[in-house]
Amino acid sequence: MQAQKAPGTEDLVGGYMRAWQRMSDVARELFGTYGFDAIETPSMEQVDVFVHGIGTSTDVVRKEMFRVMSGTLWDKVLEQGSEQGLKPKQRLALRPEGTAGVVRAVVENNLVPQGAAPVKCWYAEPMFRGERPQKGRLRQFHQVGLEWIGAPDPAADAECIIILMEFYRRLGLDPARLRLKINSMGDPACRPAYRDSVRAFILDHADEMCEECLERAETNPLRAFDCKNDRCREVMEAAPKVTDALCDDCRSHYEQVKRYLDEAGVPYEEDPRLVRGLDYYTRTVFEVETADGNGQGSLGGGGRYDGLVEIEGGKPTPGIGFAVGFERIMIALANQGVDLAGPEPSCVYVASASPEQRSAVFSATLALRAAGIRTEADYQGRSLKSQFKQADRLGARLCVVLGPDEVAAGTATVRDMATHEQESVAAAGLADRVAGLLA
Ligand code: AMP
Repeated sequence: MQAQKAPGTEDLVGGYMRAWQRMSDVARELFGTYGFDAIETPSMEQVDVFVHGIGTSTDVVRKEMFRVMSGTLWDKVLEQGSEQGLKPKQRLALRPEGTAGVVRAVVENNLVPQGAAPVKCWYAEPMFRGERPQKGRLRQFHQVGLEWIGAPDPAADAECIIILMEFYRRLGLDPARLRLKINSMGDPACRPAYRDSVRAFILDHADEMCEECLERAETNPLRAFDCKNDRCREVMEAAPKVTDALCDDCRSHYEQVKRYLDEAGVPYEEDPRLVRGLDYYTRTVFEVETADGNGQGSLGGGGRYDGLVEIEGGKPTPGIGFAVGFERIMIALANQGVDLAGPEPSCVYVASASPEQRSAVFSATLALRAAGIRTEADYQGRSLKSQFKQADRLGARLCVVLGPDEVAAGTATVRDMATHEQESVAAAGLADRVAGLLA
């Protein structure tokens, strides 16, 4: 039987891989100008990192985390019939999102000691969620994300959003075909009362709402705004709005964020029903989707998480960030006819007339590669004719041909694959001449 990939996973090959690398390059370039450095945290963390940060009542933590266990531990759990006996450090999960792990790393490495400058970092990594696979919804997907820890200023919120929108633009998405939605979710001063009012609203409409929303009323009432059920959504239209319930500090913060966005000329829509799925968000939240709604869910989003550093065991430190999904971006780019991957890299092909020139080919490829030139040759004993065909298939711009005459004379014939023009070059100057022709 032919081996198959796990459901909901994808291989990044060819143009798809080039597009992912290009996305990381654009991130490095753009985020770098804003002072962000790359970070990489482990793919797995202790389950508690996610449970404490993301929240026990979220789908991500309750249903979607992939748990990780060694074979030995697995046997032990089977034997005991439960994982109750495991120590916290034996309870591991693949990261379903990037923020909790980055914040854990910031706390553990004391990257924001008292009075220090904020930590500004970004990542490009796979994430893992046990969702039902469909187009644009995978079990292993890729995110580019950014975290800014230690900055309470509303200008940081606005700058994050500005960076996000510029990122889409640089990837080739038409900003006019994107919709940016923003909201404030309040903070511990005003959210509990708001949460209670939403809970009361749901219970008042209990006969019109689904079972799951009634459960949410008790655990996490704001999640009812995200219910997939049309009837629930209709009912929730009339629910109290968070923007009417903000305390003075949150209201003023939100007003300033909007003022900065206006000043920067970034268009946005306020959506008082935008509640992001993870518990750690406070104040500003934002999400981006395609304006035609022709995406497979949101293209990215983020928000402020002023309580998360403390939750992960650090001193109270504000933070804000966002994450963008690579696979969703690829769908949106395809819908807009944009090719992020770009052409396959071209190369120089070194061909030989017969096996006697094999060692001349070997040294020519060494010299060309030492000069940084992408070089290919034949390793399968092809005839000269099929070497030329292979050079074409590889998109070679130049072909270096070595025959008995060239080798005897210490030269090489360099052939332009498009124009078929040829010239003879001294073997010693081959790399310089080829570099010149390619430039
Ligand atoms: P979230 O952490 O849920 O806000 O996700 C941030 C972004 O990651 C989303 O806007 C999507 O672009 C992407 N994303 C989230 N979940 C998936 C998934 N299962 N498959 C593909 N992309 C996803």
